[in-house]
Amino acid sequence: MRAEIISVGTEILLGDILNTNAQFLAKELAAIGIDVYNQTVVGDNEERMLKAFKNAFEKCDLIVATGGLGPTPDDLTKETAAKFFEQELVVHEESWKHIESYFNKSGRIMEGSNAKQAYFPKDAVVLPNPNGTAPGAILKKDEKMIVVLPGPPKEMKPMFINHVVPYLQQYSDTILVSKVLRIFGIGEGVMAEEISDIINGQSNPTVAPYAKERDVTLRITAKARDEEEARKLIKPVEDKIRERLNDNIYGEDDVTLEEVVAKMLVSNKLTIATAESCTGGLIAATLINYPGISEVFMEGAVTYSNDSKMQRLGVKSDTLEKYGAVSEETAGEMAEGIAKKAGTRVGISTTGIAGPGGGSTDKPVGLVYMAIHIDGTTLVRKFNFQGSRERIRQRATMNALDWLRRELIKKFNN
Ligand code: ATP
Ligand code: MG
Repeated sequence: MRAEIISVGTEILLGDILNTNAQFLAKELAAIGIDVYNQTVVGDNEERMLKAFKNAFEKCDLIVATGGLGPTPDDLTKETAAKFFEQELVVHEESWKHIESYFNKSGRIMEGSNAKQAYFPKDAVVLPNPNGTAPGAILKKDEKMIVVLPGPPKEMKPMFINHVVPYLQQYSDTILVSKVLRIFGIGEGVMAEEISDIINGQSNPTVAPYAKERDVTLRITAKARDEEEARKLIKPVEDKIRERLNDNIYGEDDVTLEEVVAKMLVSNKLTIATAESCTGGLIAATLINYPGISEVFMEGAVTYSNDSKMQRLGVKSDTLEKYGAVSEETAGEMAEGIAKKAGTRVGISTTGIAGPGGGSTDKPVGLVYMAIHIDGTTLVRKFNFQGSRERIRQRATMNALDWLRRELIKKFNN
């Protein structure tokens, strides 16, 4: 089935409103395997709407139109669709009652103009609208179909999902199934290069990389007759990608990095405490997003000043004097110190320069040392992040969690 989305409304043509309905419908139609060939915007004008319908049906068999179902004379989408199919409008009892009760409930009287919203072609499938007065409809003639939906998104969306999708599914012999792989630790460019042959050599499933705020994702999308068949198409391609990207893939679909790390900590009964300077508690706060973390998360310290690093964590004053607060040595003592004080198997620390000021050539803004102390061994790493203060703290936090994840994989081989 080929579809065209027609958005009706002079408001859209004038740029007064953004055509979010078309975006929504395009996505949803694709998801049930209906190809959208065209999107058109047309004003509230009968003649031009008739022309738009005619044009659309030259290439498509389905038109999904939104807008212009209201009570005023310039709302004429349904009337025009009926005229196009040469179908007469008759009163639809149920809709009439619905509109009447809608007005009664809100203490108003049904106006004559609202009556027109209860008129449909005799054979149309009328789509109920619990969120407004105007019902939608599916009009058919021969092999052609026009779906008319109200303009307001809060009425249109539920109507489409609850009534149009189930109806259209009978005409679609394919569905789309997607699986998302979540990646951290390599950039989008490097990743795309690493698997460019897989991305380019695939048409079903397709493989598409996306760079997100927090990570990089790969979406594998298969078109098939049913979910099982789609999953079968996805599997070998996913396996190939996993072989290449290995541990850079931290999870699937909607999982978060903190959830993955937290689950590894909990399942291995590995207690943890954090000592943060430049991240200011963000690592602790992020881990605590995971509801079951209380089993293993013991303590989070924000040790910003030198004094607090010494008093709370036992960092040596010699170390601070000789190497500075932002140093490998300080980071190491912080991680070890918090693990000792909190009595945990894991201690994780950050110390760095989040900017915007305070950097030097030696220690530029974005320089962050992190340490992981794990069962008696302390590992330290140096990172250089770019961007605003907020971005540096955010990147440091995500990198700390990802590094911990990789160390846990090594340790527990899971
Ligand atoms: P009403 O009964 O409110 O008149 P209607 O079905 O006649 O509804 P329109 O009059 O075309 O629809 O639009 C009503 C409102 O719905 C617009 O003011 C706008 O807020 C929203 N709307 C209409 N079309 C779109 C669209 N394509 N994308 C997003 N919002 C839309
Ligand atoms: Mg209107």
